[in-house]
Amino acid sequence: MSDPTLDPRLGSWVPVPEGSDFPIQNLPYGVFRPSGDTPRVGVAIGEHVLDLAAAQAAGAIDELPQGIFAAPALNRFMALGRRAWRRNREQVSAVLAGDRPDGAEAWLHRQEDVAMERPVEIGDYVDFYSSLHHATNVGMMFRPDAEPLLPNWRHLPVAYHGRASSVVVSGAPVVRPSGQRSGPDGPVFGPTVRLDIEMEVGFVTGVGNPLGTSIPVGSAEDHIFGLCLVNDWSARDIQAWEYQPLGPFLGKSFATTMSPWIVTLDALAPFRVAPPPQDPAPLDYLAVDGDAAFDLQLEIRLNGEVVSRPPFREMYWTAAQQLAHATVNGTNVRTGDLYASGTVSGETPDTLGCLLEMTWNGARPLSLAGGEQRTYLEDGDEVVLRGWCERDGATRIGFGECAGTVVPAYGGGGET
Ligand code: CA
Repeated sequence: MSDPTLDPRLGSWVPVPEGSDFPIQNLPYGVFRPSGDTPRVGVAIGEHVLDLAAAQAAGAIDELPQGIFAAPALNRFMALGRRAWRRNREQVSAVLAGDRPDGAEAWLHRQEDVAMERPVEIGDYVDFYSSLHHATNVGMMFRPDAEPLLPNWRHLPVAYHGRASSVVVSGAPVVRPSGQRSGPDGPVFGPTVRLDIEMEVGFVTGVGNPLGTSIPVGSAEDHIFGLCLVNDWSARDIQAWEYQPLGPFLGKSFATTMSPWIVTLDALAPFRVAPPPQDPAPLDYLAVDGDAAFDLQLEIRLNGEVVSRPPFREMYWTAAQQLAHATVNGTNVRTGDLYASGTVSGETPDTLGCLLEMTWNGARPLSLAGGEQRTYLEDGDEVVLRGWCERDGATRIGFGECAGTVVPAYGGGGET
């Protein structure tokens, strides 16, 4: 059965510029704050945002608890589950399609006039490592005499628990972290000199599971509210010195940026594709079939210049497999958990997801337009991640921006 909210013929009374990330077929959710007012939930449409709290108060949206959108996070809405998400999407689509409802202009704000906030109150943050090309490249760099992939990699989606408190929304500055790194005469302390990005795609959970149970891979998507872009900023020198034997810690926990708009699985339905074949076949609890992956094209801009276009559809492990694996031991996922995919890298040099790979750990500097070179990020550098989906017969949708600018380390940045 075709979904009327995805019909390419559907238009809106809100003007949507050609090529916008936010046509009426997208309808991503976020949290915004009008000037001098309190944060509330909205939906992006073209260059505007529809205030769902105001639309609900006016009676244009019903069947949900009153005031659920007059909140600084999507969590209460996300906890209602797929049926409520679906019903609300249909109502928002109806409000924005066709003729303008009476009074609806008061529910609209220009995006340039509002501040976007972190859309989700994040309880737990997990970061996977699910790109075959990324894991292979990193293995070749750091274990040149061994098999690039460790023995577990093709059998389970490897991950670590990250830090939720430092997940910030697009636009927040990223302070260059300081820490220990290995030096020729022992460890030294100071600001990282190998500050990197990792282009990733995250999903947020709407409905969790009770402790002691697990989420089957076949129903994992019922728990996933939607996808966003993620930049897992990484201090490679701090990371390299600290990570064995327990994994990433301070080299990652200083900042993670997420995009402000959550694109729902309903909006992504036209862009489903089969994931790459898995060899060997995973254990039964991770077995998926059909179009379990999403054809999402990604882009990394460094100081305005496109430096890579990673293909998300090539990720080895899918979101459903990641969530099934994350709960197979009986741990409990909660509303508002964030799960990032791991660095998205393709096979070719123009599709790599981090500077570590693009410069081969600094050995091959990037040449930028204007004659500058980069191995790792310098203070003042701006990184903008984007993502979009397009195919014949469907309306192109996008994720907006996931942006951050590096600011100097606290304390003047001197070495000690
Ligand atoms: Ca990562």
